[in-house]
Amino acid sequence: MSVRVVARIRPLLEKELDKDVIVSGDRAQDGKPLTIVKIPNPKNEAEEFSFAFNSVYDRATTQEELFTSEVAPHMKALFQGYDVTIFAYGVTGTGKTHTMRGGLKLAERGVIPRLLSNVFRRGKKLAKDSNGETTVEVALSYYEIYNDKVYDLLEPPEKRTPSGLPLREKDGKTLVVGLSERSCGDLKDFEKLYIEANNNRVTAATKLNAHSSRSHAILRVKVTQTTGDMVRESIASAIDLAGSEDNRRTDNGKERLVESAAINKSLFVLSQCIDAISRGDKRIPYRESKMTRILSLGQNNGITIMILNLAPIRSYHLDTLSSLNVSSRAKRI
Ligand code: ADP
Ligand code: MG
Repeated sequence: MSVRVVARIRPLLEKELDKDVIVSGDRAQDGKPLTIVKIPNPKNEAEEFSFAFNSVYDRATTQEELFTSEVAPHMKALFQGYDVTIFAYGVTGTGKTHTMRGGLKLAERGVIPRLLSNVFRRGKKLAKDSNGETTVEVALSYYEIYNDKVYDLLEPPEKRTPSGLPLREKDGKTLVVGLSERSCGDLKDFEKLYIEANNNRVTAATKLNAHSSRSHAILRVKVTQTTGDMVRESIASAIDLAGSEDNRRTDNGKERLVESAAINKSLFVLSQCIDAISRGDKRIPYRESKMTRILSLGQNNGITIMILNLAPIRSYHLDTLSSLNVSSRAKRI
Protein backbone atom coordinates (compact mmCIF):
# COMPACT_ATOMS: atom_id res chain seq x y z
CA MET A 1 0.00 0.00 0.00
CA SER A 2 1.53 3.32 -0.93
CA VAL A 3 0.45 6.92 -1.02
CA ARG A 4 1.83 10.03 -2.66
CA VAL A 5 0.68 13.55 -1.90
CA VAL A 6 1.66 16.13 -4.50
CA ALA A 7 0.77 19.77 -5.03
CA ARG A 8 -0.09 21.42 -8.34
CA ILE A 9 -0.06 25.20 -8.54
CA ARG A 10 -2.17 26.53 -11.37
CA PRO A 11 -1.15 29.47 -13.58
CA LEU A 12 -2.86 32.85 -13.32
CA LEU A 13 -6.02 33.18 -15.36
CA GLU A 14 -6.27 36.06 -17.80
CA LYS A 15 -8.37 38.10 -15.39
CA GLU A 16 -5.84 37.51 -12.60
CA LEU A 17 -2.70 38.76 -14.34
CA ASP A 18 -2.48 41.85 -12.14
CA LYS A 19 -3.09 39.93 -8.92
CA ASP A 20 -0.66 39.41 -6.09
CA VAL A 21 1.05 35.98 -6.19
CA ILE A 22 1.64 34.69 -2.66
CA VAL A 23 2.27 30.96 -3.13
CA SER A 24 5.76 29.95 -4.18
CA GLY A 25 6.80 26.58 -5.49
CA ASP A 26 8.56 27.23 -8.76
CA ARG A 27 10.79 24.52 -10.07
CA ALA A 28 14.52 24.60 -9.48
CA GLN A 29 16.96 25.95 -12.06
CA ASP A 30 17.71 22.42 -13.28
CA GLY A 31 14.01 21.91 -14.07
CA LYS A 32 13.43 19.31 -11.36
CA PRO A 33 10.21 19.71 -9.39
CA LEU A 34 10.55 21.04 -5.86
CA THR A 35 8.96 19.54 -2.81
CA ILE A 36 8.17 22.65 -0.77
CA VAL A 37 5.28 25.13 -1.03
CA LYS A 38 5.67 28.44 0.82
CA ILE A 39 2.90 30.82 1.82
CA PRO A 40 2.91 33.85 4.15
CA ASN A 41 1.26 33.77 7.54
CA PRO A 42 -1.95 35.79 7.00
CA LYS A 43 -1.58 37.29 10.47
CA ASN A 44 2.01 38.34 9.97
CA GLU A 45 3.13 38.48 6.37
CA ALA A 46 6.80 38.80 7.32
CA GLU A 47 6.60 35.19 8.40
CA GLU A 48 6.38 32.32 5.90
CA PHE A 49 4.95 28.82 6.36
CA SER A 50 6.49 25.92 4.46
CA PHE A 51 4.77 22.66 3.54
CA ALA A 52 6.50 19.55 2.24
CA PHE A 53 5.11 17.28 -0.48
CA ASN A 54 6.36 14.29 -2.41
CA SER A 55 6.46 16.66 -5.40
CA VAL A 56 5.32 20.16 -6.26
CA TYR A 57 4.22 20.90 -9.82
CA ASP A 58 4.51 24.56 -10.69
CA ARG A 59 2.47 26.83 -12.96
CA ALA A 60 4.35 25.75 -16.07
CA THR A 61 3.51 22.05 -15.63
CA THR A 62 1.60 20.62 -18.58
CA GLN A 63 -1.14 18.00 -18.42
CA GLU A 64 1.19 15.54 -20.10
CA GLU A 65 4.01 16.14 -17.61
CA LEU A 66 1.71 15.59 -14.65
CA PHE A 67 0.31 12.36 -16.09
CA THR A 68 3.73 11.06 -17.11
CA SER A 69 5.27 11.75 -13.71
CA GLU A 70 2.46 10.79 -11.37
CA VAL A 71 0.07 8.36 -13.03
CA ALA A 72 1.78 6.57 -15.93
CA PRO A 73 4.35 4.90 -13.62
CA HIS A 74 1.49 3.00 -11.91
CA MET A 75 -0.28 1.69 -14.99
CA LYS A 76 1.84 -1.45 -15.11
CA ALA A 77 0.88 -2.21 -11.50
CA LEU A 78 -2.79 -1.76 -12.43
CA PHE A 79 -2.46 -4.55 -14.99
CA GLN A 80 -0.66 -6.66 -12.37
CA GLY A 81 -3.82 -6.51 -10.28
CA TYR A 82 -3.19 -3.52 -8.02
CA ASP A 83 -5.82 -0.82 -7.56
CA VAL A 84 -4.89 2.77 -8.36
CA THR A 85 -6.79 5.68 -6.78
CA ILE A 86 -6.25 9.32 -7.73
CA PHE A 87 -7.82 12.27 -5.90
CA ALA A 88 -7.93 15.95 -6.81
CA TYR A 89 -8.30 17.97 -3.63
CA GLY A 90 -8.58 21.74 -3.20
CA VAL A 91 -10.63 24.91 -3.14
CA THR A 92 -13.14 25.58 -5.95
CA GLY A 93 -11.35 27.39 -8.78
CA THR A 94 -7.91 25.89 -8.17
CA GLY A 95 -7.89 23.39 -11.06
CA LYS A 96 -9.30 20.07 -9.82
CA THR A 97 -11.55 19.54 -12.82
CA HIS A 98 -8.84 20.82 -15.14
CA THR A 99 -6.44 18.27 -13.64
CA MET A 100 -8.83 15.32 -13.76
CA ARG A 101 -10.96 16.03 -16.83
CA GLY A 102 -9.09 18.82 -18.60
CA GLY A 103 -9.97 20.48 -21.87
CA LEU A 104 -11.07 19.06 -25.20
CA LYS A 105 -7.84 19.71 -27.09
CA LEU A 106 -5.40 16.82 -27.06
CA ALA A 107 -2.72 18.68 -25.11
CA GLU A 108 -5.30 19.88 -22.57
CA ARG A 109 -6.70 16.47 -21.74
CA GLY A 110 -6.54 15.65 -18.05
CA VAL A 111 -5.66 12.58 -16.02
CA ILE A 112 -8.91 10.72 -16.76
CA PRO A 113 -8.86 10.57 -20.59
CA ARG A 114 -5.10 9.91 -20.50
CA LEU A 115 -5.60 7.05 -18.06
CA LEU A 116 -8.32 5.52 -20.25
CA SER A 117 -6.20 5.92 -23.35
CA ASN A 118 -3.31 4.17 -21.60
CA VAL A 119 -5.59 1.33 -20.44
CA PHE A 120 -7.00 0.74 -23.94
CA ARG A 121 -3.52 0.79 -25.46
CA ARG A 122 -2.19 -1.73 -22.93
CA GLY A 123 -5.26 -3.91 -23.35
CA LYS A 124 -4.81 -4.06 -27.14
CA LYS A 125 -1.12 -4.86 -26.77
CA LEU A 126 -1.79 -7.66 -24.26
CA ALA A 127 -4.35 -9.23 -26.58
CA LYS A 128 -1.98 -8.98 -29.53
CA ASP A 129 1.10 -10.27 -27.70
CA SER A 130 -0.86 -13.27 -26.44
CA ASN A 131 -2.33 -14.00 -29.88
CA GLY A 132 -5.77 -13.35 -28.52
CA GLU A 133 -5.42 -15.76 -25.59
CA THR A 134 -5.77 -12.91 -23.12
CA THR A 135 -8.75 -10.60 -23.40
CA VAL A 136 -9.05 -7.30 -21.62
CA GLU A 137 -12.39 -5.73 -20.78
CA VAL A 138 -12.95 -2.24 -19.49
CA ALA A 139 -16.14 -1.34 -17.61
CA LEU A 140 -17.02 2.06 -16.20
CA SER A 141 -19.10 3.30 -13.34
CA TYR A 142 -19.47 6.96 -12.55
CA TYR A 143 -21.28 8.35 -9.53
CA GLU A 144 -21.36 11.32 -7.26
CA ILE A 145 -21.67 11.71 -3.52
CA TYR A 146 -23.73 14.73 -2.58
CA ASN A 147 -24.77 15.39 1.03
CA ASP A 148 -23.55 11.90 1.84
CA LYS A 149 -25.87 10.27 -0.70
CA VAL A 150 -24.77 8.28 -3.72
CA TYR A 151 -26.19 9.06 -7.18
CA ASP A 152 -25.48 7.23 -10.41
CA LEU A 153 -24.17 9.60 -13.09
CA LEU A 154 -24.70 7.11 -15.90
CA GLU A 155 -28.45 7.44 -15.32
CA PRO A 156 -30.48 10.55 -16.17
CA PRO A 157 -31.29 12.78 -13.15
CA GLU A 158 -35.05 12.04 -13.52
CA LYS A 159 -34.36 8.50 -12.36
CA ARG A 160 -32.83 9.63 -9.09
CA THR A 161 -34.51 8.87 -5.81
CA PRO A 162 -33.85 11.53 -3.18
CA SER A 163 -32.35 9.02 -0.75
CA GLY A 164 -29.74 7.92 -3.28
CA LEU A 165 -28.41 4.40 -3.81
CA PRO A 166 -28.05 2.12 -0.78
CA LEU A 167 -24.78 0.46 0.24
CA ARG A 168 -24.31 -3.19 1.09
CA GLU A 169 -21.43 -5.16 2.53
CA LYS A 170 -20.32 -8.27 0.71
CA ASP A 171 -17.16 -10.30 1.35
CA GLY A 172 -15.75 -7.43 3.34
CA LYS A 173 -16.32 -5.00 0.47
CA THR A 174 -18.82 -2.18 0.21
CA LEU A 175 -21.06 -2.28 -2.84
CA VAL A 176 -23.31 0.45 -4.16
CA VAL A 177 -26.56 -1.40 -4.83
CA GLY A 178 -27.94 -0.70 -8.30
CA LEU A 179 -24.94 1.25 -9.58
CA SER A 180 -24.70 0.83 -13.32
CA GLU A 181 -21.67 -0.37 -15.14
CA ARG A 182 -21.05 0.09 -18.86
CA SER A 183 -18.55 -1.78 -20.87
CA CYS A 184 -16.36 0.46 -22.96
CA GLY A 185 -14.36 -0.58 -26.01
CA ASP A 186 -12.27 2.43 -26.88
CA LEU A 187 -11.58 6.07 -26.11
CA LYS A 188 -14.43 7.26 -28.35
CA ASP A 189 -16.90 5.10 -26.43
CA PHE A 190 -15.57 6.47 -23.21
CA GLU A 191 -15.78 10.10 -24.26
CA LYS A 192 -19.38 9.82 -25.34
CA LEU A 193 -20.33 8.27 -22.02
CA TYR A 194 -18.27 10.72 -20.01
CA ILE A 195 -19.73 13.83 -21.66
CA GLU A 196 -23.27 12.51 -21.16
CA ALA A 197 -22.58 11.68 -17.51
CA ASN A 198 -21.06 15.07 -16.77
CA ASN A 199 -24.14 16.70 -18.27
CA ASN A 200 -26.26 14.58 -15.92
CA ARG A 201 -24.19 15.88 -13.04
CA VAL A 202 -24.71 19.52 -13.94
CA THR A 203 -28.45 19.08 -14.65
CA ALA A 204 -29.00 17.33 -11.33
CA ALA A 205 -27.11 20.02 -9.41
CA THR A 206 -29.03 22.80 -11.15
CA LYS A 207 -32.33 21.19 -10.19
CA LEU A 208 -31.28 21.30 -6.56
CA ASN A 209 -30.12 24.86 -6.93
CA ALA A 210 -26.67 23.64 -6.07
CA HIS A 211 -23.37 23.54 -7.90
CA SER A 212 -21.47 20.48 -9.04
CA SER A 213 -18.47 21.69 -7.02
CA ARG A 214 -20.45 20.66 -3.93
CA SER A 215 -20.30 16.95 -4.70
CA HIS A 216 -17.54 14.37 -5.10
CA ALA A 217 -17.47 12.79 -8.58
CA ILE A 218 -16.02 9.30 -8.69
CA LEU A 219 -15.10 7.49 -11.88
CA ARG A 220 -14.44 3.79 -11.49
CA VAL A 221 -12.59 1.94 -14.23
CA LYS A 222 -12.70 -1.82 -13.87
CA VAL A 223 -10.09 -3.70 -15.86
CA THR A 224 -10.71 -7.42 -16.29
CA GLN A 225 -8.04 -9.60 -17.87
CA THR A 226 -9.04 -13.11 -18.81
CA THR A 227 -6.70 -15.89 -19.91
CA GLY A 228 -8.45 -19.27 -20.03
CA ASP A 229 -9.76 -19.86 -16.51
CA MET A 230 -7.66 -17.16 -14.99
CA VAL A 231 -9.37 -13.85 -14.33
CA ARG A 232 -7.61 -10.82 -12.94
CA GLU A 233 -9.56 -7.74 -11.95
CA SER A 234 -8.29 -4.37 -10.85
CA ILE A 235 -9.83 -0.95 -10.36
CA ALA A 236 -8.60 2.51 -11.20
CA SER A 237 -10.58 5.28 -9.47
CA ALA A 238 -10.36 8.96 -10.32
CA ILE A 239 -12.05 11.38 -7.96
CA ASP A 240 -12.81 15.06 -8.50
CA LEU A 241 -13.55 16.07 -4.90
CA ALA A 242 -15.98 18.73 -3.72
CA GLY A 243 -14.39 22.13 -3.09
CA SER A 244 -12.59 22.25 0.24
CA GLU A 245 -13.40 25.93 0.93
CA ASP A 246 -15.18 26.96 4.05
CA ASN A 247 -18.58 28.10 2.75
CA ARG A 248 -19.67 29.31 6.14
CA ARG A 249 -17.55 32.37 5.56
CA THR A 250 -19.21 33.48 2.39
CA ASP A 251 -22.69 31.97 2.28
CA ASN A 252 -24.50 30.88 5.40
CA GLY A 253 -27.78 29.72 3.88
CA LYS A 254 -29.15 26.57 5.48
CA GLU A 255 -28.70 24.39 2.37
CA ARG A 256 -25.07 25.38 2.04
CA LEU A 257 -24.45 24.70 5.72
CA VAL A 258 -25.75 21.15 5.39
CA GLU A 259 -23.59 20.67 2.29
CA SER A 260 -20.55 22.12 4.01
CA ALA A 261 -20.92 19.85 7.00
CA ALA A 262 -21.08 16.76 4.75
CA ILE A 263 -18.13 17.92 2.65
CA ASN A 264 -15.98 18.87 5.64
CA LYS A 265 -16.60 15.56 7.33
CA SER A 266 -15.75 13.44 4.28
CA LEU A 267 -12.65 15.48 3.41
CA PHE A 268 -11.51 15.24 7.02
CA VAL A 269 -11.92 11.46 7.08
CA LEU A 270 -10.15 11.25 3.73
CA SER A 271 -7.15 13.14 5.07
CA GLN A 272 -7.12 10.94 8.19
CA CYS A 273 -7.06 7.85 5.96
CA ILE A 274 -4.22 9.23 3.83
CA ASP A 275 -2.30 10.03 7.02
CA ALA A 276 -2.85 6.54 8.41
CA ILE A 277 -1.80 4.90 5.14
CA SER A 278 1.35 6.97 4.86
CA ARG A 279 2.29 6.14 8.46
CA GLY A 280 1.77 2.46 7.70
CA ASP A 281 -0.97 2.10 10.35
CA LYS A 282 -2.93 -1.13 10.51
CA ARG A 283 -6.15 0.67 11.32
CA ILE A 284 -7.41 3.03 8.63
CA PRO A 285 -10.61 4.92 9.53
CA TYR A 286 -12.10 4.38 6.06
CA ARG A 287 -15.51 3.36 7.44
CA GLU A 288 -16.13 6.80 8.85
CA SER A 289 -17.27 8.39 5.62
CA LYS A 290 -19.28 7.05 2.71
CA MET A 291 -16.71 8.00 0.11
CA THR A 292 -13.72 6.32 1.78
CA ARG A 293 -15.91 3.33 2.63
CA ILE A 294 -17.05 2.75 -0.96
CA LEU A 295 -13.46 3.14 -2.14
CA SER A 296 -12.30 0.75 0.63
CA LEU A 297 -9.47 3.20 0.97
CA GLY A 298 -6.29 1.57 2.14
CA GLN A 299 -7.85 -1.92 2.35
CA ASN A 300 -5.81 -3.45 -0.45
CA ASN A 301 -2.23 -3.15 -1.53
CA GLY A 302 -2.97 -0.49 -4.08
CA ILE A 303 -1.57 2.92 -4.84
CA THR A 304 -3.16 6.22 -3.81
CA ILE A 305 -2.20 9.59 -5.26
CA MET A 306 -3.57 12.80 -3.81
CA ILE A 307 -3.14 15.92 -5.91
CA LEU A 308 -3.62 19.14 -3.95
CA ASN A 309 -4.61 21.89 -6.38
CA LEU A 310 -3.61 25.41 -5.44
CA ALA A 311 -4.31 28.88 -6.85
CA PRO A 312 -1.31 31.13 -6.21
CA ILE A 313 -3.09 34.44 -5.55
CA ARG A 314 -4.00 36.37 -2.43
CA SER A 315 -7.79 36.11 -2.72
CA TYR A 316 -7.45 32.39 -1.90
CA HIS A 317 -5.07 32.98 1.01
CA LEU A 318 -7.08 31.60 3.96
CA ASP A 319 -8.60 28.73 1.99
CA THR A 320 -5.21 27.81 0.54
CA LEU A 321 -3.67 27.77 3.98
CA SER A 322 -6.43 25.58 5.38
CA SER A 323 -6.22 23.14 2.46
CA LEU A 324 -2.44 22.95 2.97
CA ASN A 325 -3.03 22.28 6.65
CA VAL A 326 -5.62 19.57 6.01
CA SER A 327 -4.01 17.75 3.12
CA SER A 328 -2.04 15.20 4.92
CA ARG A 329 1.65 14.66 4.46
CA ALA A 330 1.80 18.27 3.40
CA LYS A 331 3.31 18.80 6.78
CA ARG A 332 4.12 22.25 7.96
CA ILE A 333 7.88 22.32 8.43
P1 ADP B 1 -11.99 23.47 -9.78
O1 ADP B 1 -12.48 22.24 -10.48
O2 ADP B 1 -10.98 23.16 -8.72
O3 ADP B 1 -13.09 24.32 -9.28
P2 ADP B 1 -11.22 24.31 -12.43
O4 ADP B 1 -10.55 23.07 -12.91
O5 ADP B 1 -12.59 24.55 -12.92
O6 ADP B 1 -11.20 24.37 -10.84
O7 ADP B 1 -10.24 25.51 -12.76
C1 ADP B 1 -10.61 26.88 -12.61
C2 ADP B 1 -10.15 27.66 -13.83
O8 ADP B 1 -8.73 27.62 -13.94
C3 ADP B 1 -10.68 27.08 -15.12
O9 ADP B 1 -10.95 28.16 -15.99
C4 ADP B 1 -9.51 26.25 -15.64
O10 ADP B 1 -9.54 26.13 -17.04
C5 ADP B 1 -8.32 27.06 -15.17
N1 ADP B 1 -7.15 26.22 -14.89
C6 ADP B 1 -6.98 25.41 -13.83
N2 ADP B 1 -5.79 24.79 -13.85
C7 ADP B 1 -5.18 25.22 -14.97
C8 ADP B 1 -3.91 24.94 -15.57
N3 ADP B 1 -3.04 24.09 -15.00
N4 ADP B 1 -3.61 25.56 -16.73
C9 ADP B 1 -4.49 26.41 -17.30
N5 ADP B 1 -5.68 26.71 -16.80
C10 ADP B 1 -6.05 26.14 -15.64
MG1 MG C 1 -14.43 21.55 -10.60
